[in-house]
Amino acid sequence: MTNATKIEYEPVIGLEVHVQLKTATKMFCGCALQFGAPANSLTCPVCLGLPGALPMVNKQAVEFGIRIGLALNCQIDHRVKFDRKNYFYPDLPKGYQISQYDEPLAFDGVLQMPIQDASGQPKVCRITRAHLEEDAGKSIHMEGSTLVDLNRAGTPLVEIVGGPDLRSPEEAYVYLNTLKRNLSYLGVSDLSMEKGSLRCDANVSIRPKGQEKFGVRSEIKNLNSFRMVRAALEFEIQRHTRELEAGRTLSQETLLWDDEKHETRSMRSKEEATDYRFFPEPDLPFFDVPREWVDSIHATLPEMPEKRLLRFLDDYRLTEQDADYLVGEKALADFFERAVSLMDEPKKVAAWVVGEVTRELNDRNAGIDELTLTPESLIELIKLLDSGKLNNITAKEVFHGMVETGEGALATAKKLNKLIEQDDDAMNAVIDEVITEFKDKAVADFKAGEEKALGFLIGQCMRKLKGKANPKELGPKIAARINA
Ligand SMILES: [Zn+2]
Repeated sequence: MTNATKIEYEPVIGLEVHVQLKTATKMFCGCALQFGAPANSLTCPVCLGLPGALPMVNKQAVEFGIRIGLALNCQIDHRVKFDRKNYFYPDLPKGYQISQYDEPLAFDGVLQMPIQDASGQPKVCRITRAHLEEDAGKSIHMEGSTLVDLNRAGTPLVEIVGGPDLRSPEEAYVYLNTLKRNLSYLGVSDLSMEKGSLRCDANVSIRPKGQEKFGVRSEIKNLNSFRMVRAALEFEIQRHTRELEAGRTLSQETLLWDDEKHETRSMRSKEEATDYRFFPEPDLPFFDVPREWVDSIHATLPEMPEKRLLRFLDDYRLTEQDADYLVGEKALADFFERAVSLMDEPKKVAAWVVGEVTRELNDRNAGIDELTLTPESLIELIKLLDSGKLNNITAKEVFHGMVETGEGALATAKKLNKLIEQDDDAMNAVIDEVITEFKDKAVADFKAGEEKALGFLIGQCMRKLKGKANPKELGPKIAARINA
């Protein structure tokens, strides 16, 4: 077959994201939610599925679900209805999961992504639905046996189902990052893929470009990072293309991603929805979601990142790269704005936050709210630098001292003995000393017009002054004294 006659295929990708909510207690009982507690210590008759135990809905979980729905521009259902999804698995003691089937809490939303589609318009992915459900327990597979930990059983989840609107693994990657960034603004989840509080399944098929009908779909599970989602999608798209080009047919199946072997393997042929025998949960009556409640939740939504990004570009004239980075995490953007309210020099403040503050966060693998650093102390430091009491090098040293102790800039600078005291006599004495010492070398070179020699002399003075001077001030002083 020649290239000219080859069919061009187009991937169709849809993602399902499970978000564990960080409510104080579980979805249908009063057990505490806590990661890493001793196995089966956070359980009760309800989440153990003991006969006769009755569930009660956690209002905070419903509120968090509504928050997520609103942030994704969804409609919110006027009532909450739960259904039983029946299946058998060792980590599901009731033999069913309480979920939402035909009436999701939120539906018909959109997520706008910071990329463009093929026609140059901002790329939008529909949000088909976002519904509430409970998590199952955890099976721990050991050699020859399987243990079950039911601490996770009954943890509230919101499943966010995106429309089949993504056309490449890269778009899927951007979708996930955008979704996570938006969710991080809501304060409803830890969003940690490591701890399993954010999980993703991917659906992918391919079809000849221009064809409306979807191709045969693979569902990929066990995707523990956004990078893995992208890699697994790339693998599946290539596999589907190869199979179709060889004239073979594909079958719909559920696959697991093996990150070590870098391939998917079959888990099972896909169950149809009817296999789950959904029916309304008889132990939980429907209840109304008053419009006023939704409106009051809407009123508490923060400014979302897309909007904030535009405002950062407009109000603070930041580079797109800096603005995008800062709004990436709400706490960091809040920190920046608080600092700018104390010192109206957004670019200078942004340089510190994107630079030194971020380096510190990366080194500690921490978020800004885990540092003792305050916007006030950062501004105090920048002002010391501006006034010449610190130079670029000592300011960074003082900064690291501040992060260690949580103390202010001036106190730290004094403690570390980094403050530059304007003692002209002492400075002149050092300059004279250096000029005498290097009379025949650097000083002679400088006199002969070699600019580089001045840098050397500044360095020598800085060393003798133990870094407590401003090199920009030293240069002209040395030059003046040599030429005097
Ligand atoms: Zn419980």
